[in-house]
Amino acid sequence: AVRLTAVRRRYRDVTALDGVDLAIRAGTFTAIMGPSGSGKSTLLQCAAGLERPTSGTVEVGGTELTGLSERRLTLLRRDRIGFVFQSFNLLPSLTAAQNVALPLRLAGRRPSRTEVGDALGRVGLGDRARHRPGELSGGQQQRVALARALVTRPAVLFGDEPTGALDTTTSREVLALLRELVDGEGQTTVMVTHDPVAAAHADRVVFLVDGRVADEVLAPDAGEVARRMAGLESGCGEA
Ligand code: ATP
Ligand code: MG
Repeated sequence: AVRLTAVRRRYRDVTALDGVDLAIRAGTFTAIMGPSGSGKSTLLQCAAGLERPTSGTVEVGGTELTGLSERRLTLLRRDRIGFVFQSFNLLPSLTAAQNVALPLRLAGRRPSRTEVGDALGRVGLGDRARHRPGELSGGQQQRVALARALVTRPAVLFGDEPTGALDTTTSREVLALLRELVDGEGQTTVMVTHDPVAAAHADRVVFLVDGRVADEVLAPDAGEVARRMAGLESGCGEA
């Protein structure tokens, strides 16, 4: 579903991504880990078409993003890609239902109540449609953000530390929900996280160091993920 080939991204004198090759199969759940500054957010932004690589190619759902005009890229992003952030980014003056309807409105469509209700139902918030973000818990707000990201039925859901602002219990609930969406609906999901327990919910963990893929683990367990992370971080110090 997602393929990055020789992706480099430079910001002036900083090389954030230094030749990333990564193929992600449809219907799988991938976690991206790595030390701070290793390029995780940059990788996600490039894969989601929010940033353009300096060189290399990105393919999502069979479409090569790198060749698209700004206009076409925006359309594809709206239609095929879902993104959630650590900070939820909901509009505080809108209800949950209005927040979820936004991507459909942006696409020039009149959202149907069923469509919006279904999206809220998928994240277990069918009964909170008229609540505003300030009237919801952090976990509920992140679930509204997930419903908003999923309402267009995107080919890929990206999350940049989606559980980073949540307490342990709430974080586990959101991760269990992500896992359910992958298992039940085949929702391809790619998530950046610092938390080995969060990463253990994925099918595969990819480790970045200095803008390169340095390691990966399949069918991860939290202990193994933590050991690999520790190994990579000490390796960085020595280099
Ligand atoms: P963290 O775990 O702290 O979120 P990260 O792995 O997500 O880190 P990135 O945000 O991808 O790291 O940043 C990778 C490198 O690119 C860093 O050295 C950062 O300073 C640099 N960088 C990222 N975005 C920009 C930008 N817009 N302008 C300049 N440099 C940037
Ligand atoms: Mg980051």
